[in-house]
Amino acid sequence: MASADTQSLLDALDEPAMAIDHGVVRHSNAAARELLGVGIDGKDVRLAIRHPQALEHILPGAAGDVEITGIGQFGRPWTLSIRAIDQGMLLIRLIDRSAAIAAEKMRVDFVANASHELRTPLSTILGYAESLADDADLDSEHRAKFGAIIRGEAKRMLRIIEDLMSLSRIEAVRFVTPDDRVSVAEVTASAVENAGRGAQHCSIRLDVEQQLPAVLGDRAQLLQLVDNLLSNAIRYGCEQGECVIRVAASRGDGWIRLSVADNGPGIPREHLRRVTERFYRVDAARSRESGGTGLGLAIVKHIVERHKGTLEILSTVGAGTEVLVRLPIAP
Ligand code: ADP
Repeated sequence: MASADTQSLLDALDEPAMAIDHGVVRHSNAAARELLGVGIDGKDVRLAIRHPQALEHILPGAAGDVEITGIGQFGRPWTLSIRAIDQGMLLIRLIDRSAAIAAEKMRVDFVANASHELRTPLSTILGYAESLADDADLDSEHRAKFGAIIRGEAKRMLRIIEDLMSLSRIEAVRFVTPDDRVSVAEVTASAVENAGRGAQHCSIRLDVEQQLPAVLGDRAQLLQLVDNLLSNAIRYGCEQGECVIRVAASRGDGWIRLSVADNGPGIPREHLRRVTERFYRVDAARSRESGGTGLGLAIVKHIVERHKGTLEILSTVGAGTEVLVRLPIAP
């Protein structure tokens, strides 16, 4: 292979890559020079990559893939790929494994969190069920009280399981673009009607522009999205006397803007970035007491992603929270 070809091949790669000829770096791309230093071309590979474990694989010249941590940057995980290209030359590529490791960690954390969330009410149920079964002298007042606790905790488990199933159903159709023509005006009106019964202490205002164009969507999911945002506004935004929730929909440039805003206590800035993570709560006890599962905003985020929309959470402590969703107008 001519030298110019090798260089242009390396330049076309996004990951750090080098061609090594008899232990010397002959060519490198910009990503490799950024990681290992600008002067690596022409250097002995042992000086360019000062990593004994990587060199153990590169110097003998045997093709293969090895998982290695810490080349160029402390703690950064790589797959070191070694391939023979031409007349003793080796192609060395460093493929970043950070994203794959983060995804795997998220999966493991999710299973651990979900198990913990389900085990807590289950332990309570077991404890009270044992008292009911074993204590023959228990008076009727205590029996009724324990029964009510068992029912409450079982309902909580059911809500968590239903939300987990919702989340996995939405994930299963993640790559299937929804294609029904859905009226956001109709969906918001239905959600406000559903919420009305549970929201005696706050007033909900519906402010929807006339003649709003349709979006291409999944009606059940869009209804779930507005339902979740409204329940949060009621659950967290309605603690003081004068609470007002505004559900608004209007037309933007190519988008429908759908917003649910409350004048509640708001979300502190340091939590804002994380509230759409599964099971993340600002105040776990308050969320549980009021029937939250910690999955509402994660479900919202997944529904918005499936609809190729955008999600913004704007909040000021002491003033309120607005969740703004943009959905593309149907062509
Ligand atoms: P949950 O089931 O706990 O409500 P969510 O995923 O819907 O879970 O929300 C995550 C967390 O974000 C909540 O526990 C709450 O702390 C915070 N949050 C969500 N919406 C609001 C809001 N409108 N006002 C204040 N805090 C909110």
